[in-house]
Amino acid sequence: MKKVLKSLIDLQEIDRQLFEIDEKKGSLPEKVEQLESQAASIVSNLENTRTALDENQKELTNIKGGSLDAGGKVKQYQDQLYLVTTNREYDALTNEIETVKAQMAEMAERQLILETEIKSLEEIIANSEEQSTDFVKQLDANRIELKQKSDLTDAKQEDLEAQRVELIKNISQRYLRKYDRILKARRRAVVAVEHSACTGCHKQLSPQVVYDIQQMDSFIECENCGRILVHIPKDED
Ligand SMILES: [Zn+2]
Repeated sequence: MKKVLKSLIDLQEIDRQLFEIDEKKGSLPEKVEQLESQAASIVSNLENTRTALDENQKELTNIKGGSLDAGGKVKQYQDQLYLVTTNREYDALTNEIETVKAQMAEMAERQLILETEIKSLEEIIANSEEQSTDFVKQLDANRIELKQKSDLTDAKQEDLEAQRVELIKNISQRYLRKYDRILKARRRAVVAVEHSACTGCHKQLSPQVVYDIQQMDSFIECENCGRILVHIPKDED
């Protein structure tokens, strides 16, 4: 029985470590996912800003072309003014000139707005590119770190699982089933006695039970919580 109880103590320790690994592992992929989604959002913002810049630049080119054409028209109309012979023709041309000049003023205003916007978009892009470069560096570093951690954890997990397989060979199915059932329900299945009490639920135990547990010759379960009670010698013992 001593051997079974000692194996159960070791089994509990292995299962505790496996449980910890499981908990840690759960958060690793989440972290990577979070970083990747941040990176994707930076890239997509940058693309949108580039598209906006492109559209503004196209509009600016069109407006500059339009202004040039309008300037040519005004000059042409002004030259024609010298050739007109009637007042009606003169008024019509003057009206034309005013209309085109008004259009030119509007275009000049729009050109100013576009030039300001383009400047600010270019600044945003430069900043985003810098940010994105820094972020990618950070992401790569994190990925490498996470991968190393994950590899280490996988190796440790495999090692623990191999140890577990060896260990349970020492324990009969009857005790193993009991152990598994308590572990599922209470997370810890094997507990020590301290100050004559079960350390799982703090229930006081009779001196006889404490004595029996110290002998490690029988399989004793806590009357209150059902955990397997064992004697774990302290260093000074
Ligand atoms: Zn108990």
